[in-house]
Parts: sequence; structure tokens; C-alpha cells
Amino acid sequence: MDWEPKLETLKGDSKVMRAPTNLGVHVDGKTAVVIDTGLGDDKARALCHILEREDLMPVAIVNTHCHADHCGGNAFISRRTKSEIYAPPLEVCFIEDSELHIRTLFSQAVPPADPSMRLLRAERCRVDRRVTLDETSIAGHNFHVMDLRGHSIGQIGLLSDDKVLYAGDAVFNRSVLEKHPVPFYVDPDETRRSIDRVLSSKAETVVLGHGEPLTMAETRAHASNFRDCIDQTDMQILDLLDQPKTTEEVISTICTQRGLDETLVQLLLAETTIKGHLSSLARKKQLKFWQESHKTYWSR
Ligand SMILES: [Zn+2]
Repeated sequence: MDWEPKLETLKGDSKVMRAPTNLGVHVDGKTAVVIDTGLGDDKARALCHILEREDLMPVAIVNTHCHADHCGGNAFISRRTKSEIYAPPLEVCFIEDSELHIRTLFSQAVPPADPSMRLLRAERCRVDRRVTLDETSIAGHNFHVMDLRGHSIGQIGLLSDDKVLYAGDAVFNRSVLEKHPVPFYVDPDETRRSIDRVLSSKAETVVLGHGEPLTMAETRAHASNFRDCIDQTDMQILDLLDQPKTTEEVISTICTQRGLDETLVQLLLAETTIKGHLSSLARKKQLKFWQESHKTYWSR
């Protein structure tokens, strides 16, 4: 499918450049704030062309979270436009150095070289400012900053005065879930709470990190489907653990049942999601765990 870069107006000053990872743009007079920058330089370069053509000056880049497909174009845009980079405090070190984030997926050791890991790599950049939840404006542009943690440790969303919410990966739509049958998040409970915050926000249009911009009614339908997927993972784990199993056995069974791709990156990401569920269920006393022969076992 041919991809043609264009800047679509969603409402008022709130726009988006649709791409595999959507790039949000908020305009105020002649200045623009860019929300997330895509993987690699390509989409960032295309957006810079459009903004130059429309005589808009990017003054800030805001990252919703640290994943390379959301911050990979930071270095390119900030070099080309001198715009400052803003990010939530807990995401900063991973945005500045994606190798650090990759190491979190491998117990902070350096993972072995594998081509699939390129999806997690972003060019190094420097974050100039931290965005906190009480912020009401970024580089002079009005936003309400929302706490959307759960997919990552400190993810935020930005709600514009036009009632457009740039929600990062707080919700995955149906087609993303078809492609990623074990969707990534670090904490299933925080993820559920963030879904609720999206649905109870004043947003009328929701720009997810991936997929078409949605009305609130459409968001509600996709969010309900995503929540079912999270709940099903809990149920699948509890079903499985009527007999004790090791962490690796649980991960292998769920990934096999869901038909996950056999690449290192997919496995590392799914491991995080499933470990998040195991830990959450243990904290809620629905599972117990113990160590034996240097393996962690889980059981109901
Ligand atoms: Zn993400």
C-alpha cells in the first residue's frame, strides 16, 4: 500500500499525520507541537517537509512514552528544527537511550544480537524538559496532561482544547490486537485504569498511537475489546495454573495458544506482559508462587 504523507485536521488546531505510528500536531499561530515521532527518520522527515511547506515552526516534540516507534524520529526533528523534546519523567532515560529500555526486557543484561531487536532501537537524543501531570501548557500550547501509565511505566496522553486526545498506546484497536495477540503492557491493572481515564475524559476524538482517529463511541468499542483481551489473559493464566507451572511454561503456553510470532523481540515483549499478569494475580492473592530447583513456580 502506498503511503502518502499528509496533515489531516481533526478539529480546530488539532491535527494528525497518519502513519504506522500516528504523529500528532497541535498548531497555535505559526508554531506547532509534535506529539510522537515514529520509528526511524522517514516519517519525521515527511512531517518536517509538510510543516515547512505550511510555514509552521515546530517548537516542541512531546513523547507519550519511550517506545522506539513513538520517539525514533526525535533526533531528526530536533536537529532539523531546534525544537525542544518533552517527555514524562519516568520515560526520559529510556527515550534518551533506547538500549537502556531494551536491557529492561532482558533483566538489564545486554541481550544477544538479533535482527528482530531493531524495532526497539531509536537514535539517541536529549530530553530537554519533563512533562508532569499538573502541566497546562507546553511551549505555549494548551493541553491537559493525562496519566495513561500501564502500557509503559509513565505514559501520558495530551488532551487539547479542541477535545482531541493524543492517547499513545493506552488503547489498542482491533487490528493491532489481531497482529499482536499478546499486546505489550507492563501492568495490566494500571492499563485498565488508564482505559477508564480515556473513556471518562472530555475527549471527543481519540488519536491512538496506531490506527485511525476515533470518535468516543468507537474508542469505547475498541477499549472494551482490549479490556476483554486483558481479562482473558488473567483467566487463561488462572485456568492453566490449577497445576503448578514455571514462569516459562506459562509464557510458552499462552504465546503458543495465541499464535505469537517466534522472534526474540516478540517473546521478550510477551514475557513482560505475562509476568505483569502473574505478579498482579499474586498481589491479589489469586496465585501463590515459590522457588524450587531455581525455577519460579506459580499455582492457584
Ligand atoms: Zn508503545
